[in-house]
Amino acid sequence: MAKKRALPQSGSPSSKKQETNYEAIRTTKTSSAGLDRLTGIITQYGILECLACNLTAKDLFSLALTSRTAHQAILTNEESRLNLTKRSKCDSTGIRIRSKHHRKSSWFHKYPCTEYATCGSEDKLRDVESHPCASCGVNTCDECRIHCVYQSIHLPRDAPDELPYYSGFVLLNPPEMGILSPQQFGEDEEWEEPINGVAKPYHDQGYLDTALEDDEYADVESIEGIITLNLGRDDIEGNHSSGWHVPSAVVRAFWDITEQRKRLLCPTCFEKHADEDNWHMHDDDGMCQCTLKSRFLDRWICLKCFLEEEKSDQEFPHGVKKCQDVSNCSCGDVFTTYRCPRVLCLWCKGEVRQ
Ligand SMILES: [Zn+2]
Ligand SMILES: [Zn+2]
Ligand SMILES: [Zn+2]
Ligand SMILES: [Zn+2]
Ligand SMILES: [Zn+2]
Ligand SMILES: [Zn+2]
Repeated sequence: MAKKRALPQSGSPSSKKQETNYEAIRTTKTSSAGLDRLTGIITQYGILECLACNLTAKDLFSLALTSRTAHQAILTNEESRLNLTKRSKCDSTGIRIRSKHHRKSSWFHKYPCTEYATCGSEDKLRDVESHPCASCGVNTCDECRIHCVYQSIHLPRDAPDELPYYSGFVLLNPPEMGILSPQQFGEDEEWEEPINGVAKPYHDQGYLDTALEDDEYADVESIEGIITLNLGRDDIEGNHSSGWHVPSAVVRAFWDITEQRKRLLCPTCFEKHADEDNWHMHDDDGMCQCTLKSRFLDRWICLKCFLEEEKSDQEFPHGVKKCQDVSNCSCGDVFTTYRCPRVLCLWCKGEVRQ
């Protein structure tokens, strides 16, 4: 993880005591000649932009604290700060968050499985695209951003006539889920096999199966079908034609996160919290038309921001959660047949059909 950096490390302040270190560094005379030269370079914005490409956003902030001039060049102007963090290198935060949440099954160690979960800035073999997070602006690679289904684990085929096995994780949910490639499902499309042990991840594709260590039976689901379902009209129940539980075990994590975005509000509170200006996200009647894809894939979101957004959905203080069996709005109003609660989508602030 430790990379060679083009900058002196000695004065790099720890994030904790940045304020005091700032003063200390500024008044230190010892390395001032080198620092002066660096400062001179930094004030040339073109060079600063170049430098930013080789630094993480955190490195960039550390650099800004080495001198008043550096601070001015990097942080004072909001526009230039955003421009620089947009160019900075992904710092593997998402990979660290993934490894904290995802739990590999016992199968992983029983069989010669391989895992691919590497930050784009650490991966020298694959070109991983990166974009600024739509929420915080920090440059984030495709492996460090949120995906609906991370296809990260692969068990190579045993014999030429067999097919490889795939598995992975739903959002940041812990259990390792089975994933079927289109070929395993009898379709023509073939997934490339790993070259030199490096498997290309097929995030958000193929068919989702139950958790590997779960005995519960449920039908596999088309991932494309799940992530493009119009959540303003339908709930993610999964395939339950044969009388299985609702939601089916395969889609439970998706059910949880999409139900969590709904709030029941009395008509008055609904009007207050719905956002009609968000018209581009709603259909002609102001109805929600969110999909998992529009929420988590079409928006490029880092995992830190994903966790924050999830938390703020959970803590939204108005109205009542759909799962709660209550007869009052949070304002005290009683829900009646004449004053039916309306369902607000916290993602688009539009109305969910019920
Ligand atoms: Zn990354
Ligand atoms: Zn972010
Ligand atoms: Zn992707
Ligand atoms: Zn109310
Ligand atoms: Zn919505
Ligand atoms: Zn309110």
